Amino acid sequence: MTAHLDVNLTLLAANIASVSGRIAPAELMLVVKDDAYAHGIISVVARAFDEGVRWFGAFDIASAAKVRRTVGSQARIFVWIAVTRKEIEEALDLDLDFGVGDPGMLEDVAAASGARRARVHLKIDTGLHRNGIRPEDWVAVAARARSLEAAGAIDVVGVWSHIAEASDEEDDKARELFDAAVLQARDAGLTPSILHLAASAASWERPEFRYDMARVGAYCYGIRPAGGPSEADLSISPVASLRSVVTAIGETVTVGVGSLHGLPSILAAKMKVKTPDGWRLVVRVDDLEMQVESWPSAHVGDDVTIYGPDAMSATDLAEKIETIGEEIALRVSPIVSRRYM
Ligand SMILES: *Cc1c(COP(=O)(O)O)cnc(C)c1O
Repeated sequence: MTAHLDVNLTLLAANIASVSGRIAPAELMLVVKDDAYAHGIISVVARAFDEGVRWFGAFDIASAAKVRRTVGSQARIFVWIAVTRKEIEEALDLDLDFGVGDPGMLEDVAAASGARRARVHLKIDTGLHRNGIRPEDWVAVAARARSLEAAGAIDVVGVWSHIAEASDEEDDKARELFDAAVLQARDAGLTPSILHLAASAASWERPEFRYDMARVGAYCYGIRPAGGPSEADLSISPVASLRSVVTAIGETVTVGVGSLHGLPSILAAKMKVKTPDGWRLVVRVDDLEMQVESWPSAHVGDDVTIYGPDAMSATDLAEKIETIGEEIALRVSPIVSRRYM
């Protein structure tokens, strides 16, 4: 196997500094779901912690457990899915912060917590309808949360939501619902001190969406939005480079990376890769390798960069096939070994 995903942790650190500086005084929660967007959760978390990140958004309990093992007790870890009672127990043992988006889960967390006072962030559904307490149920759920708090089972430390970040208009509507929900929570006697609404795009562009914290994934990995501002505009750089080497030379040059490693085969004829002799068009993407236009001095073993800060970016590729950079990043197979630098 000749393909590698090179993960440049120095660039990760620079992106984190850039995002943190931009959103300050709001705090950064680094989102590390999907194995840190396929960059490798342990190495990413360890470096981010060294850079001062103290909040991690892990999505599920298994990822959160990896984060806890990496950072010890010195960071907060937010999860927003927990299905079974057993997982809630595990989450309590790991001292996680719970994103609670439905009344049933609120009851389960409170029941499991015993004397441990689970830290709860109540989620209002502001329009995405994925998960979140519906506005019409919010007042009743807030009151119930207050009584569970009074009983010593939970602490409601946060209110949060997730927005589409597709249009400012829609996001503004979501923010109105969010603000109303926060007021209603306070009216119910809750005292949430951590309000969080935005992810990468809204927290970067729109100060009023930052509140106390922003949950940022994409920009910290240097993944810019498709059709949006450039990396330079955002002061970020892609952290990962997908690289491989020349494995055979014929009419075309064979490079050892293909669709089974995660490269969409429909990129053939649409993308160029960086070779020692400059840019070359990709002619075909097969399962385990791709065919690239030849160059005179090509040798077996030559390095070829498929995407990364020195070549096209994951988002550049995504734009060729009308998807988003995250999809390109997340497709990289776990069998492609990660190298950290
Ligand atoms: C993935 C995710 C984020 C991070 O989104 P980016 O656009 O990658 O910054 C934030 N919040 C939630 C709930 C998410 O699922």
